[in-house]
Amino acid sequence: MERQHPDLGENRRRVVVIGGGIAGSLVAKSLQFSADVTLIDPKEYFEITWASLRAMVEPNFGERSVINHRDYLVNGRVVTSAAINITDTEVLTAEGHLIVYDYLVIATGHMDPVPKTRTERLNLYQTENEKIKSAHSILIVGGGPSGVELAGEVAVDFPDKKVTLVHRGSRLLEFIGPKAADKTLNWLKSKNIEVKLEQSVDLNSVSDESKIYQTSAGENIKADCHFLCTGTPIGSAWLKNTILKDNLDIRGSLMVDENLRVKGRRNIFAIGDITNIPEIKQGYLAQKHALVAAKNLKIVMDGKEGSKMDTYRTGSVMAIVSLGRRDAVAQLPFATTIGCLPGLIKSRDLFVGKVRKQLGLEPDIVHA
Ligand SMILES: Cc1cc2nc3c(=O)[nH]c(=O)nc-3n(C[C@H](O)[C@H](O)[C@H](O)COP(=O)(O)OP(=O)(O)OC[C@H]3O[C@@H](n4cnc5c(N)ncnc54)[C@H](O)[C@@H]3O)c2cc1C
Repeated sequence: MERQHPDLGENRRRVVVIGGGIAGSLVAKSLQFSADVTLIDPKEYFEITWASLRAMVEPNFGERSVINHRDYLVNGRVVTSAAINITDTEVLTAEGHLIVYDYLVIATGHMDPVPKTRTERLNLYQTENEKIKSAHSILIVGGGPSGVELAGEVAVDFPDKKVTLVHRGSRLLEFIGPKAADKTLNWLKSKNIEVKLEQSVDLNSVSDESKIYQTSAGENIKADCHFLCTGTPIGSAWLKNTILKDNLDIRGSLMVDENLRVKGRRNIFAIGDITNIPEIKQGYLAQKHALVAAKNLKIVMDGKEGSKMDTYRTGSVMAIVSLGRRDAVAQLPFATTIGCLPGLIKSRDLFVGKVRKQLGLEPDIVHA
């Protein structure tokens, strides 16, 4: 086992961030010149999760949305491995690194089985794109944000494909309101997408020759290929046998206080989708958590705690689900709307330029 004691030049505090997604990457970037930062992530890159569906229809899109951690974490350390245990002072990774910390930030929102390197990730988009291009008919399983956004991308870029979307629930996009779901259903139907609600698909039932998928309602769907968009579980299973096991709630979320510290822990913060904050799980909120946690970490590292610390407050529910390159459905605090107006906000660039800027990178240009 390799024990890593980061060099404490200038007596800087050791901050270890676990999880290099939307929240973890931003907190690591924000602290890199104030602390000795180590970022632990099983992959070498940060990926803008919601841009991956555009990258499946346009693989070059991934060039800007898949960013090596090294590109924005220029003054920190990257450990490419999954965290598997923590003690009061150390993090243990699957590859046997033992990393000492003074402060810990847990940001393991979701664990997607994605490749380790950026090149492998970009190649996977290419493979998925070829799968879409060579199919006449496509089955999408799951009517949450991933399934709906993928259906929208395919419908707009490949209008000749026969797309069927099967969803187990009684309506699409259950994470937001029924108005948004109804409007989305009508939009998908207007693009000739067949939507089947309250059904599931037995993916083992399909044979290579027939390409017939059976649903739980006994219907047969003919499709050349399928995409599974049923979401991924919260990334906290690895915490179940650690010192934080009692800080997990019944759903596996980490319980945090208003300063985003894990309840009862002075030096452990949690941010992003893994927290038990009662709000919909959205990247822009995960980014807000990251900025609050970064500010509070700077305060505690300066030895000033208490009232000076920033408090995280939940706001009103807001979500935008893109529907191809032009349209989107938006649930805003005052209205639910669909079409090119909400599309103007999200659908062209999917906030990729904005996220890149936040990480201190140029929004458009990719340096080889
Ligand atoms: C289709 C879709 C569209 C969306 N659209 C939007 C949108 O338009 N706007 C918006 O604000 N939000 C959107 N979201 C939600 C947004 O993606 C999430 O809220 C956001 O990714 C949460 O960020 P996070 O950092 O908490 O977790 P994640 O981004 O899931 O990152 C978790 C990171 O932790 C790593 N990890 C997991 N386990 C371990 C471990 N044991 N050790 C080390 N690392 C680990 C993972 O590799 C990953 O890098 C969308 C989501 C989906 C699925």
